[in-house]
Amino acid sequence: MDYILALDQGTTSSRTIVFDSTGQPVASHAQEFAQIFPQSGWVEHDANEIWQSQWQSALAALRSLARTHGEAALDQVRGLGITNQRETTLLWDRASGEPIANAIVWQDHRTADRCDELRKQGKAALIQQRTGLVLDAYFSATKLAWLLDNVPTARVRAERGELCFGTIDSWLIYQLTRGKVHATDVSNASRTMLFNIHTLAWDPTLLRLFRIPDSVLPSVVPSSGVLGEVDGTLLAQAGLKRSLPIAGVAGDQQAATFGQNCFAPGTAKNTYGTGCFMLMNTGTTAVASNHQLLTTIGWQAKLDKPSRPAYCLEGSVFMGGATVQWLRDGLQIISKASDVEALAASVTGVDDCYLVPAFSGLGTPYWDGFARGTLVGMTRGTTRAHIARAALEAICLQSADVFSAMQADSGIALSELRVDGGATANNLLMQLQADVLGVPVLRPRVTETTALGAAYLAGLAVGVWSDAVELAEQWAVDRRFEPVWSDTERARKRERWQEAVERSRAWAKK
Ligand code: ADP
Repeated sequence: MDYILALDQGTTSSRTIVFDSTGQPVASHAQEFAQIFPQSGWVEHDANEIWQSQWQSALAALRSLARTHGEAALDQVRGLGITNQRETTLLWDRASGEPIANAIVWQDHRTADRCDELRKQGKAALIQQRTGLVLDAYFSATKLAWLLDNVPTARVRAERGELCFGTIDSWLIYQLTRGKVHATDVSNASRTMLFNIHTLAWDPTLLRLFRIPDSVLPSVVPSSGVLGEVDGTLLAQAGLKRSLPIAGVAGDQQAATFGQNCFAPGTAKNTYGTGCFMLMNTGTTAVASNHQLLTTIGWQAKLDKPSRPAYCLEGSVFMGGATVQWLRDGLQIISKASDVEALAASVTGVDDCYLVPAFSGLGTPYWDGFARGTLVGMTRGTTRAHIARAALEAICLQSADVFSAMQADSGIALSELRVDGGATANNLLMQLQADVLGVPVLRPRVTETTALGAAYLAGLAVGVWSDAVELAEQWAVDRRFEPVWSDTERARKRERWQEAVERSRAWAKK
């Protein structure tokens, strides 16, 4: 049996999963690390802590593999894959490998004003055309510019070639190779707002616009392919006697899409965590969105067309599982997240009651920062069960809005939706999702799709797997949810939801 070590560096924890060559997780470990909030709207991570927690979790996962599968299993670990929180931005000293400041996390809004300025200068269209992204503080470009302008001496040192910029994948690669490799993959590069997703190169016009010296940039490599070897000292710590190639890299949502085997154009997945992230493969065409979806690189891997990357459309819902957290912590009508299913199932419908969980505005396709949470249609008969059911429907209806936007932009009709994430444990939620969409919802057996995607990308490069067909054979459905609503029922539901959304919009503008 061969094994692949998958590092899954998330926003709140660093996790490692060892997969065997049948695609089953056989050992894992996770370690949390600190969230740093220096002031309102700012979110930082200590990059050394990220590296330490990631490496400790890798060591623990390998120890667990040796315990359960024998020491000899360690000799069968063939490659390492990385998946990571995207857009989070770091600058470090090329010679010492020391970060010059904390990493600025994707959630950090300190550069929102800078983005507004650029919007007023009319730069949004240029940026969207070249990067596929909506001009926003999420992405790395304005965060990197902020570091260069605000960390003392950063800009002069950068111009002298002394600093490296990287998203978290680059940072882990640099640490794993002890400074030998400074690289990022195309999927992570496509989230920086500096990368031209059509030419597959850093964009000189954007580098000038954001005032980024090109000496800081990592080289850009495919998502699947050997880009370096893990350093010998680290191998010794892990008890690994063979070399370990770093062979797969992708941002977390792209890796999950790959792990869900969405290899064919017109396949899509939705992840139900705190928020929801839906990605749809559009093949070798970068589809420009008219509905505020992001156009992003999914991956570049040797599947059918070696030289071209797979592009995706991406949309996000801010309040996914977090809506259920609000029922638990805000309204206190349930005591744990999983209680919502029984409560919502205790009524047969919402009785025309709608919850629009726009607590921090609305995401795709509305992008309305001023929308606020709204509960409409209540009568004296409305109970907490109706509200719980309306909350589940809201997760599904928001996802359906993204789903419709994707179909409208791409002209591709989606025939099913693959799902993952913590909230997919909820069968009622999944059934409602199928009903609202009118297509089957497929929940796979292995729900660790993010780490699995990184493992697949690495395993393809080192020959553990040979092609998409072999991977597709491994993907197995745990449960398939078929839609049961009539078309009339579905249309009515979507229409009422639109009316409810309208009532939530622009509320906080006054
Ligand atoms: P993240 O990776 O964003 O932390 P997870 O994938 O771990 O999220 O999923 C956790 C989210 O799923 C939480 O927001 C939680 O409220 C929600 N959740 C967990 N179990 C259920 C359930 N049975 N029904 C609905 N939502 C759930």
